[in-house]
Amino acid sequence: METKPCRQLHIFFLPFMVSGHTLPLIDLAKLFASRGVKCTIAATHANSPIISKAIQTSKGFGFEIDLVLIKFPSNEVGLPEGIDSTKFVRTEEMRGKFLKAITLLEQQVERVLHQHQPHCLVADFLFHWATDVATKFKIPRLVFHGTGFFALCAIKSTMMYQPHMKVSSDSESFVVPSLPDEIKMTQNQLAPFLTLNGKTELNKLIKKSREAEERSYGIVVNSFYELEPEYADHYKNVLGKKSWHIGPVSLCNIVEEDKAERGREGSVDEVQACLNWLNSKRLNSVVYICFGSMTKFSDSQLVEIAYGLEASRQKFIWVVNKERNDKEEWFPEGFEQRIEGKGLVIRGWAPQLPILQHEAVGAFLTHCGWNSILEGVSAGVPMITWPVSADQFYNEKLVTQILGIGVAVGAQKWEDGSLLSEASVKREAIEKAVTGFMVGEKQEDMRTRVLALGMMARGAVAEGGSSFSDLTALIEELSFLGC
Ligand code: UDP
Repeated sequence: METKPCRQLHIFFLPFMVSGHTLPLIDLAKLFASRGVKCTIAATHANSPIISKAIQTSKGFGFEIDLVLIKFPSNEVGLPEGIDSTKFVRTEEMRGKFLKAITLLEQQVERVLHQHQPHCLVADFLFHWATDVATKFKIPRLVFHGTGFFALCAIKSTMMYQPHMKVSSDSESFVVPSLPDEIKMTQNQLAPFLTLNGKTELNKLIKKSREAEERSYGIVVNSFYELEPEYADHYKNVLGKKSWHIGPVSLCNIVEEDKAERGREGSVDEVQACLNWLNSKRLNSVVYICFGSMTKFSDSQLVEIAYGLEASRQKFIWVVNKERNDKEEWFPEGFEQRIEGKGLVIRGWAPQLPILQHEAVGAFLTHCGWNSILEGVSAGVPMITWPVSADQFYNEKLVTQILGIGVAVGAQKWEDGSLLSEASVKREAIEKAVTGFMVGEKQEDMRTRVLALGMMARGAVAEGGSSFSDLTALIEELSFLGC
């Protein structure tokens, strides 16, 4: 008997509206599309330009990726029209409303799924309702977290065992239980939403999202096995959830596109200006400083960074997360004149991937966002770690303690990155960490290790590599389910 051929596998992607989650999900869609899978990405207005641009570029490679616009229900929750990305959220009150709006997206997504009839829904962790919506359509829901196995295991363990409840002060350290390594943390370094008794909108959302994850089909992780093998195994075998490691997803851009045309880097001229500046610098002589897309430091913290960098006497590129037309009264007097030739300040958005891949960049002072860490590793650049919020304090432990590819600047306290008000890391600590790293002896060993990991990252995504094979296995499983 002849069997009916299955229709082309079709995956629907639902990214959370923040660059650190949207960018890797776009890359993930590109990866699936490069294997002949039809992909559709649902996006709100704020996210759509970057997605459209990436889709446009991908069409040149024959990839089948579509964009579906959904309307963010700003008005319904009392937010001004146009506030449809976390980058616009500046107060606790706005955050509460924003999180409520996320829940209201459910019905729209249900409608578009009905129209498109995909075989699978890959939705960000925070869309807790996505598991039930997928169940209605009898399709698997895969969870995307935007972080790696180490942080996933550590967060899960913290939530299960609540070790921070057994110490007497916020600064007393405790061991995160039942992990392959002895990892010490303090309550100060934990996100408030990890404490189960929290009553904020975010606490409630995280609780629902965790429950939905338990009922989901599994998770896709932007990581590669060789980076954190014990934790990839621990997640699967001990914590008992199906998972696929398919990263670093950002490498698909380097393999397949001209760097300047990635769609997220800014104009070709801006990228070129930055690369020209780097071309005039010696091998490994520049520190690249960037705190991701979300962290908004107070002016007083920016002043500390400016003085710390100046005193370090090192060459640097510093990305200041402020719009170009923001008032710049915070700059120390004469700072830009004094650093001319030595330091480049980029306002707003920097072409991070081409910068990290430039041979003049010798260190990456990073807030330890997971994408940044993977990008640093892939480019073979050792790190100076300055975690601020989210999963970043866990990621710092992976970099400094487990992988041995970075040193800590000494940040001690988890803070809400979008509402920062104080200068918690002082200029002396910044100077010490930067100078200590750039002229110290440890950097060569760290560079050797991170270069080796970078090679492994490229091997993982190349044909036959661990991430390539896990993606193949996932596609085969989804195709089987969809037939
Ligand atoms: N990024 C960039 N230019 C910038 C700031 C960030 O290209 O000026 C990119 C960076 O390469 C990474 C993402 O934005 O892919 C930030 O993600 P990450 O997880 O590092 O931090 P988050 O923004 O989520 O805190």
